Amino acid sequence: MKALYYNELKGCTGIKIGERPMPEINENEVLVRIKAFSLNHLDIWVMNGTYPAHIPLPHIFGSDASGIVEKVGKLIQHINLGDEVIIFPGVSCGHCMQCVKGHDNECNSFSLLGVLCDGVSAEYAKVPATSLFKKPEGLSFEEAAGIGITYSTAWHSLVARAGIRPGETVLIQAAGSGVGTALIQVAKLYSAVIITTVGDEWKTAQAKAIGADFVIHHSKENLVEAVKRITKGELADIVVDHVGATTFNRSLSSLRRGGRAITFGATTGDEVSVSLRYLFGKNIAIHGVYMGPKSTFHEYLSLFPHKLKTVVDSVFEFEDGQKAYEKLLSRQFFGKIIVKV
Ligand SMILES: [Zn+2]
Repeated sequence: MKALYYNELKGCTGIKIGERPMPEINENEVLVRIKAFSLNHLDIWVMNGTYPAHIPLPHIFGSDASGIVEKVGKLIQHINLGDEVIIFPGVSCGHCMQCVKGHDNECNSFSLLGVLCDGVSAEYAKVPATSLFKKPEGLSFEEAAGIGITYSTAWHSLVARAGIRPGETVLIQAAGSGVGTALIQVAKLYSAVIITTVGDEWKTAQAKAIGADFVIHHSKENLVEAVKRITKGELADIVVDHVGATTFNRSLSSLRRGGRAITFGATTGDEVSVSLRYLFGKNIAIHGVYMGPKSTFHEYLSLFPHKLKTVVDSVFEFEDGQKAYEKLLSRQFFGKIIVKV
């Protein structure tokens, strides 16, 4: 089969296009003919060699995809040939306490497709049958490929971990990232007052179009002062910071007493110095989030495409997979970057 893959961990310059063996499925697995996959920063960490795990080589990458069921293992009854599906990208043991409780993203063996095993940047991928969900009607394969990691993380962050309540003020860092566009829309479902940040002026109108109430240009305005001004000194109830080292302390300073901070991603670095006195003095909770559990798909897929939508920045041809990652690294995008297969 045709695949995008790499033989060495040297970033997206190592991406090759070529033939790889067709995956062979077990009795509890399904072979999916991939129609589209979307890019995540996670792919970059894995291909750079900065992800803290042994990555098998050669490696087919990518976690989020949609496609059509091509072959079904003997034991599978809930999936049929020809079904149009979205793949839940998380992989867990399925039998430990955390998995059974529906906290599969807290399973000790939790990982993502395209990290410790081959991913979805190919014509075909084999996945556990329990990872497949019917593609919502009215959603293209390209749109469907963009709602795995971003929405699962956004939903779990705001709904389960931060416990968002109607009308709260939510500060979302980096509106233009895929997860930023998901966070804004999920917060909007709760009638939140949404404050977000951008680094480029052209992203302001796009952020407002998907639900942001206030947009702060982070290199032109002092974030904390801007949040104070917007909230008339009340500050934010929740902050979601996936930018990391360069922004995390300013994010914490934007929170009111009793505020909740969510951290994941940390695209600008993961080491920060935080004042413990500040945290306990203001009753602030920090939640680390690594994806959401599989149940998040059950919770939000039915909201597509009417209440939630995939913000698609661009769709690349399969042969241009490397260019797609160069665009991701350029930060000149708004929403999800998709590759057609
Ligand atoms: Zn488990």
